[in-house]
Amino acid sequence: ASGYTLLRDPRHNKGLAFSEAERDAHYLRGLLPPALASQELQEKKIMHNLRQYTVPLHRYIAMMDLQERNERLFYKLLIDNVEELLPVVYTPTVGEACQKYGSIYRRPQGLYISLKDKGKVLEVLKNWPERSIQVIVVTDGERILGLGDLGCQGMGIPVGKLSLYTALGGVRPSACLPITIDVGTNNETLLNDEFYIGLRQKRATGQEYHELLEEFMTAVKQNYGEKVLTQFEDFANHNAFDLLAKYSKSHLVFNDDIQGTASVVLAGLLAALKVVGGTLADHTYLFLGAGEAGTGIADLIALEMSKHTDTPIDDCRKKIWLVDSKGLIVESRKESLQHFKQPWAHAHEPLKTLLEAVESIKPTVLIGTSGVGRTFTKEVVEAMASFNEKPVIFALSNPTSHSECTAEQAYTWSQGRAVFASGSPFDPVEHEGKVHVPGQSNNAYIFPGFGLGVVISGAIRVHDDMLLAASEALAEQVTDEHFAKGLIFPPFTNIRTISARIAAKVAAKAYELGLASRLPRPDDLVKYAQSCMYTPTYRNYR
Ligand code: NAP
Ligand code: MN
Repeated sequence: ASGYTLLRDPRHNKGLAFSEAERDAHYLRGLLPPALASQELQEKKIMHNLRQYTVPLHRYIAMMDLQERNERLFYKLLIDNVEELLPVVYTPTVGEACQKYGSIYRRPQGLYISLKDKGKVLEVLKNWPERSIQVIVVTDGERILGLGDLGCQGMGIPVGKLSLYTALGGVRPSACLPITIDVGTNNETLLNDEFYIGLRQKRATGQEYHELLEEFMTAVKQNYGEKVLTQFEDFANHNAFDLLAKYSKSHLVFNDDIQGTASVVLAGLLAALKVVGGTLADHTYLFLGAGEAGTGIADLIALEMSKHTDTPIDDCRKKIWLVDSKGLIVESRKESLQHFKQPWAHAHEPLKTLLEAVESIKPTVLIGTSGVGRTFTKEVVEAMASFNEKPVIFALSNPTSHSECTAEQAYTWSQGRAVFASGSPFDPVEHEGKVHVPGQSNNAYIFPGFGLGVVISGAIRVHDDMLLAASEALAEQVTDEHFAKGLIFPPFTNIRTISARIAAKVAAKAYELGLASRLPRPDDLVKYAQSCMYTPTYRNYR
């Protein structure tokens, strides 16, 4: 290939880091200014530039451009500055990016499959330049973060998630495939937006929808085999549960909103127990929001409880209560409930509001997964603090503006006693001389390591016990030093080590369950996981 082509290939380009010898050997003379700049210097420069932008979306665009120009530098930045850049390529900024995706669209960063491609999905997959794919993240854009239906512009999510698969979990970029399935959108603003990039029609539903999904899932297996992990991301709950139930029998599938969230939140709870005391079964849980996140978390808590106490899962569920948009989920509502809510319809008088539910149930753990901001009011938090010495309060809705309460509110209204975590990041809060560092219950703790574990073991199915293994592995990474700061999640700075440990536990479980196909089993799975991880340092071209 010519030097000119080399410079324009993001997978190989290394800008001014090409050595004199490489410039000679690859016809780069004259195409670059004379100076040489190491990857470290380039990194320093780009971080400096990024910090000049005051508008978060501009940082996002700059990162997008870097990924398109110099992939290894993009990943080096992300890995070395993970705490600073996670909010840029992921929640909250990715949410705004998706809302404006049509306007900032430059190049297709993933594969678009629309209703127009019906009957030809396999051919569309074959248009993607890479052959050996290990992880697909796919969305239909109907429930992007807590922002609702963003149609085709949801593409920012699979792209962002996969960049974390690489940066945090070490899956090779060329093995990652972001996909958006476009069946239309019901978002009127987007349908009327001249820059909208998707199909300009209302969402297809029912048979038309399911046929396209079926064709897609079949084509994925046909084209990439049994060991490709397909992660469903940001589907609306009226499809998400059914798709997961259906395809988990025949495919290697994982739903991050249901299973990944559950695993990360369970890890946070296991760590929180070390602060507040008691076992999972000693606590009472109340959720605001009974959708993918809420019922997914509730299910995994019940499963872990059941395993550790040898109690039937139905009995464990009785310790867990959920509130949806109509109020507390109770037995008298059972007939009219969606199937995923039915296991949570316990005997209780109907209650309309969260505050009433808090006062009646007296939970020790309150978890917000409603997508609606400012719903953990002063009254709610004060009530929690009135009957709990250390109320556990998780405000998980994203992005930041949808968080059920802020970190500051949680600490202030509980007189600094809350054990708090949120979905989107909050800065540390000083309350009466003590600094509280809020934990971020971010799925990025789990899915990269989980996916790596699946990939390295060659697992062909996901089993719930693998999710429990991931939770336990993450919770084990929280040290006394973290607890002293109020943290119930470890800092992101060591995330690659954390991911390798999660991967090892997940892989070990896959082997134990007979679901792994990579044989023989490596002896030291942590070492093996680490040895499989992609590192973005520049290579020598000689
Ligand atoms: P979902 O499936 O649409 O569920 C939303 C639930 O909230 C539904 O049960 C809905 O009630 C309920 N709800 C809506 N408005 C309400 C209100 N005013 N009062 C009480 N309940 C209300 O969505 P999801 O996938 O679970 O996601 C929910 C939120 O969690 C999103 O903001 C998302 O960003 C966040 N999330 C965070 C993390 C994380 O922190 N790691 C992970 C995943 C999701 P009905 O069923 O009655 O409509
Ligand atoms: Mn999601």
